[in-house]
Amino acid sequence: MTCPFCGHPDHKVIDSRTSADGQAIRRRRECLACGKRFTTYEHLEEGRLMVIKKDGRREPFDRNKLLAGLVKACEKRPVSMDQLEDLADEIERDLSRTFEREASSQEIGERVMRRLHDVDPVAYVRFASVYREFKDVEQFMRELKDVLAQKSPSA
Ligand SMILES: [Zn+2]
Repeated sequence: MTCPFCGHPDHKVIDSRTSADGQAIRRRRECLACGKRFTTYEHLEEGRLMVIKKDGRREPFDRNKLLAGLVKACEKRPVSMDQLEDLADEIERDLSRTFEREASSQEIGERVMRRLHDVDPVAYVRFASVYREFKDVEQFMRELKDVLAQKSPSA
């Protein structure tokens, strides 16, 4: 897709939200060349991905919720909002490719963790601590140690 004003191919997403009927994702974009803003809509091909929660209830996948979780996990970390937007997009694409209709919140959490792991180890552990509901501090510290060990490969 190119900018409707100047034809430049690169732009960034400055805001994205699900439409009121839940059937489209509306994204505000800003052209990197001329700076003008435009809106795109992504329509979901076959209904929405449903998330199966731990208590068995289902709810539609919510990108904003995912993004909010990422923002929280990356609080005070050197990760930009653009990176987080990209990450949310990647995860969303990955999920819709992998799961046809529904995915458990756990499966989604695991995928988010894998991505965060590559982006920022501290954010990863924060997110993991919520998703895996670490039972105690020791378990949390073990996980943290593993992450840090993986981060600095022993020569
Ligand atoms: Zn432009």
